[in-house]
Amino acid sequence: MTENQAAPLCLEEVSLTFRPGRSLFQELTAGLGRLTGRQPASGGIQAVRGVSLALRPGEVLGLVGESGSGKSTLGRLMAGLYRPDAGRVLWAGRDLAGLDRAARRLFRQRVQIMFQDPVSSLNPRFTARATVEEGLIIHGLGSPAERRARVAELLREVGLPADSARHFSHEFSGGQRQRLSLARALALDPEVLIADEPVSALDVSIQAQVVNLLLDLRARRGLTLVLISHDLPLVRVVADRLAVMYGGRLMEVAATETLGRVRHHPYVEALWASAGGEAPLEGEPPDPGHPLAGCPFAPRCREAAPDCRAEPPPLSWLTEDFACACRRRT
Ligand code: SF4
Repeated sequence: MTENQAAPLCLEEVSLTFRPGRSLFQELTAGLGRLTGRQPASGGIQAVRGVSLALRPGEVLGLVGESGSGKSTLGRLMAGLYRPDAGRVLWAGRDLAGLDRAARRLFRQRVQIMFQDPVSSLNPRFTARATVEEGLIIHGLGSPAERRARVAELLREVGLPADSARHFSHEFSGGQRQRLSLARALALDPEVLIADEPVSALDVSIQAQVVNLLLDLRARRGLTLVLISHDLPLVRVVADRLAVMYGGRLMEVAATETLGRVRHHPYVEALWASAGGEAPLEGEPPDPGHPLAGCPFAPRCREAAPDCRAEPPPLSWLTEDFACACRRRT
């Protein structure tokens, strides 16, 4: 069995472009784009481009990037909330696009996602009990009494008080709401949990509690955890591997134990320098509506050469634990 077949989730050359209706503004900027060497916007917003990545069972994968890098879109593609317009998402070796109704139902149980903002992702009319129980009811799991017991068990597991079941989400603190989101995500006993910026809306003092809870649950349940975050230092502490995105593409995939021992992608080097206060990352992130023909990082890269601007460098696996998409790192 190959690594891809063993992977709980595997992306093969996945791309997704959002295609809103073309406005007068887009017509004008498309013309400007042609003058500046950028591709016209008629192709829409290229959120994710040619991403291949296989999750390893039981790992914590940190999916990192600046705002607009495509990391949240990639998380939604993994969760089956978006359908790629090129490439394949494989779940246990099976293409999501080809799953029959029963298999898709099982996928929805086994792969769960929780979002950054629990206020908008939780139904304000639902009590905590109804929130956590909803998935069990939809999937026809358990009798009313069994579901009640299961909800109490899940609320306890995520550290919410015993009487919280009857409260509404607005009665909880930010940290408690994220715990409630977690209980909802765990109700169907997933094998993969995708957590999209799970702590960025929380006070710093609460962030560590929620991250520790995630890690604890991962260890106890054997979860494969995808932690999406813009916070590279935080993810470094908790992840087994880091996957770094830029301009909708994967720039680097590295086991955290390789950090500092390999020659990282120039973007990743710049991120670390910025996080360490050595040098701010200068320049603007790429515009997904006007993607460049070559390496998306070229305008901000100190090592850029003419060949970088011809076409995007592919992600190359230099060792089993380190892959890089850079022409100067082969
Ligand atoms: S391919 Fe070129 S522009 Fe892109 S990161 Fe590498 S050196 Fe920089």
